[in-house]
Amino acid sequence: MTTTVAARRPSTAGVHLLAAWLIFPSEGRVVHAERMNAFNALVVREAEEGNPKSAVASIEQLTDADLPFYDGDEAVVVDIDYSSLNYKDGMALTGRNRIIRSFPMVPGIDFSGTVAASESPRFAPGDGVILTGWAVGERYWGGYSQRQRVKADWLVARPDGMSSEQAMGIGTAGLTAMLCVLGLEAGGVQPSSGPIVVTGAAGGVGSVAIAILSKLGYEVTAVTGRPEEHDYLRSLGATAFLTREEMSETPKPLEAETWAGAVDAVGSSMLAKIIAQTKYQGVVTACGLAGGVDLPSTVMPFILRGVRLQGIDSVMAPLADRNAAWARLATDLPRDVLASLTQVVPMSSLPEQGEAIMAGKTRGRLVVDPAS
Ligand code: NDP
Repeated sequence: MTTTVAARRPSTAGVHLLAAWLIFPSEGRVVHAERMNAFNALVVREAEEGNPKSAVASIEQLTDADLPFYDGDEAVVVDIDYSSLNYKDGMALTGRNRIIRSFPMVPGIDFSGTVAASESPRFAPGDGVILTGWAVGERYWGGYSQRQRVKADWLVARPDGMSSEQAMGIGTAGLTAMLCVLGLEAGGVQPSSGPIVVTGAAGGVGSVAIAILSKLGYEVTAVTGRPEEHDYLRSLGATAFLTREEMSETPKPLEAETWAGAVDAVGSSMLAKIIAQTKYQGVVTACGLAGGVDLPSTVMPFILRGVRLQGIDSVMAPLADRNAAWARLATDLPRDVLASLTQVVPMSSLPEQGEAIMAGKTRGRLVVDPAS
């Protein structure tokens, strides 16, 4: 039998990334003898060189010889069990905000898997590892593949007892939620301090944040644009709800002191509203921009109430912070709740799922199976 590897350069030049999805799952299963170690990956290529708008994505068969090398760095080859779909992946998959910085690109900003080969003394074949951040899936090849070569410095050990599926149920969004919770704790916010407000509640960051905060004993108010998700959010631990509309109104410089702390995945006027409603010396953790990148606030909450605004970045977070966050995720996120907010989807469904997350229609966390 001759090779039937998926086409490397689809000829649909000039069409939008999502409109141009070409998937060859059945062909991808047929492997020529010379490509015995072939595996499936989602590859985004420019149909016209130098024109990102011409980018097209397709599932291709690759071998180790196709994977990137990193000169002078200790490389680790990982057999990937699962990746996930984060907001940033949605932007990459739909061609928005120029998230993909170089072509061809294998997107997917996170993954969990098992070390197949390692040049690093930190990792040995068989080790369970997790990757999030470091511009992987943007500048460097990422998780939408059954196998990937990455720098050892980008990996953390998967906590004992945590499966790959659970790790990607958490993923970048969940790690960010935990970093927000750690930010609240570092600012002295305790369950007895008062309620915590979580925005973008039914999304990935919001869902995981609610589950952790509730487990830790905090009283959680969820802000959502989807009232139909109240039962779901209640099952995660939210006890009160506010609408997206009422929390997006332009705030007065100071409003009634309501929140001891906040986890904000939305930004813009919603973040400004929360800052204006935060209690004396409360802590607002800001990690997202689902509602916009601006911040129409005033200095009044900061100079009259000592409110603290804590930015949260998971992409370049130091290894010590990541390890601390993953250790806490292993203990402070109930596994049954994690399972209830997680859905596994095939890699071949990413075109629709990428559109859905950009439209704010996905719920909780989507784990991506690169083998299907
Ligand atoms: P999701 O799409 O899963 O969640 C975002 C949620 O925000 C939606 O589910 C929706 O919740 C709400 N939302 C969507 N659009 C709007 C809008 N226009 N106005 C107000 N609310 C809206 O994304 P993630 O949870 O993966 O990411 C959330 C944010 O956090 C993103 O901006 C992402 O870029 C950022 N992020 C930042 C990281 C960092 O390191 N700083 C790491 C990971 C994510 P609902 O329907 O309940 O209202």
